[in-house]
Amino acid sequence: MHTDTMTPADSAWQEQALCAQTGADFFFPEPGSSVREAKRICGMCEMRSACLEYALNNDERFGVWGGLSEKERLSLRRSDQN
Ligand code: SF4
Repeated sequence: MHTDTMTPADSAWQEQALCAQTGADFFFPEPGSSVREAKRICGMCEMRSACLEYALNNDERFGVWGGLSEKERLSLRRSDQN
């Protein structure tokens, strides 16, 4: 996978991402700390489905993407495969 070959279409949603305006700290919480606030912001974000799709496609392991924590994304991937 080549993250340096990301096309404009891939990254267009990021310009409208709500978390780009609030700062990344919410989305990369310390291990064990609450992701509730990040999820609340994701819930208001219009880019949520594009964001989640991007995270799944690119195997993003850390932080909240598209309203799902890393654990939730992992179980989503597992259930997709079954
Ligand atoms: S869904 Fe959440 S993590 Fe994704 S772009 Fe929106 S606010 Fe950011």
